[in-house]
Amino acid sequence: VSLVVVDAVHEGAPVGIRLSDGVVAALGPDVTADAHDTVIDAGGAVALPGMVNAHTHAAMTLFRSWGDDLPLMRWLQERIWPAEGRLTDDDVYWGTRLACLEMVRSGTTRFFDMYWYPEAVARAVRDAGLRAAVAAPLINVGTPDGMQGLKDTALGSLDALDGFDPRVEAFIAPHAIYTVDREGLEWVGALRTERDVGVHIHLSETEGEVDSCVVDHGMRPAALLDACGLLGPRTLIAHGCWLDDEELALVAERGSTVVNVPVSNLKLASGRHTPYRMAAVPGVPLGLGTDGVASNNSLDLFQDVKVMAILHKFLADDPSVMPAGEALAVAQGRRSPLLGGTRLQVGAPADLVLVRIDRPELVPGDLEANLVYAATGAAVDTVIVAGEVLMHGREVPDATEVVARAAECAARRRAP
Ligand SMILES: [Zn+2]
Repeated sequence: VSLVVVDAVHEGAPVGIRLSDGVVAALGPDVTADAHDTVIDAGGAVALPGMVNAHTHAAMTLFRSWGDDLPLMRWLQERIWPAEGRLTDDDVYWGTRLACLEMVRSGTTRFFDMYWYPEAVARAVRDAGLRAAVAAPLINVGTPDGMQGLKDTALGSLDALDGFDPRVEAFIAPHAIYTVDREGLEWVGALRTERDVGVHIHLSETEGEVDSCVVDHGMRPAALLDACGLLGPRTLIAHGCWLDDEELALVAERGSTVVNVPVSNLKLASGRHTPYRMAAVPGVPLGLGTDGVASNNSLDLFQDVKVMAILHKFLADDPSVMPAGEALAVAQGRRSPLLGGTRLQVGAPADLVLVRIDRPELVPGDLEANLVYAATGAAVDTVIVAGEVLMHGREVPDATEVVARAAECAARRRAP
C-alpha cells in the first residue's frame, strides 16, 4: 500500500508525492492517488524534508524548567544530578515519548540521543515512529565500577539495540573527555573501529575543559580524540565551541560532524559558541542540536535554526554569514552525511513534513528566509516518517496519554 500526498507544493510548484516501500517513489505535478492508495490531502501546504536534531538528551523533558537560572554547578549538583539518580527506565520511556511528541509537533523526523536506559529510549522511539540514533552515556571517572562499568554499559547497549527496530540505530557515547579517562577513550576508540559504530560525544564546550585537556594530556581536545581513535566520519561532536583552526582542519580531514548547540550554549553561558568560520569553511560537516530540554528548554528546531543563524552573524560581525538556505540545510541534516538528511526527491527516505505557509507570520516573502527567521514549529501541519503518518492537521493520536504519563513521572522525580 502506498501513501500519496496530494495538493502539496514543492519548490514553488504544485505536486503529488507517492511514498512506497519506505522511499519517495514519485514526486511531480502528474502524481495522483489510485483507488487503493492511502491519501493525505496537503491542502496547499509546502512539503519539506524534516528537521534533524543532532544532539539531544530526550528524556530530560522531565526536567524542563527544573532549576532554571541557577549557576551551572549549582544547577547540576542541586537539581539535575540528584533527580537523574532517581530515574527509572519507565521515567526515561515516558520522558522520551514526551520529547518525541514535541519533536513531531515541531517537524523533527530524526534525532541523535545520549541518555540513560537506552533500551527504554529505543522503545519510545519505536512507539512514537521517529528515527533515532540511541546511545548510553559512558563515564568511568568518579564512578564506583570505573572501567568495567564503562565496558559493560557500552557492550550491553550495543547488544540490546542490535536489530531492535529499523528506525533505531545504536551509537556509543563517551560522555566527554573529562568524564572518561584516557584508557576509557582508547577502549571506546578501538570499539568504534571494530564495530564501525557511530560515536556521540560532548567536546570543547567550555574553556576550562580545553585548559584541563592541555594540562592533563599535552594536547587540545580534538587532537586527544584523534589520538584515541575516536575521530572518524561517523563521529558526532556536540558543541565544539572552543575548537581552534588547527582542530577544525583535523575534524575536516577526519570528516567528523560538529553540532551547533546555540541555545544551550547561550542559556548556560558557555562563554563562546561553535566558531562561525566553520559555516564558511567547506569540509567540516555541520549539524544543529537543541541539547536536553533542561538547558534549552524546547525541542523546536525552527526556533533554534534562527538563533544559530543570527548568532553566527552577530559573532562574525557580518550579516552575510550563514544565509537562510544554508542554515535550513544544516537544520535538516543536509550538511553532514552522518546525519542522513537529503533533499525531498525520488529515492529519498519516505520522511517529510508539510508546513502551512498561509499563516500570517509566513506571508509574504521568501520561503527559506521565512522558515528560518519567522516560523516556529507550530507551522508544521503533518509529519510522515518511513511512509507512516505521525501527525496530520496537528493531531497526534496518543498525545493526551503521553503528556499525562510524562507529567506523572516528572512530578515523582522532581520531588526534593
Ligand atoms: Zn548535551
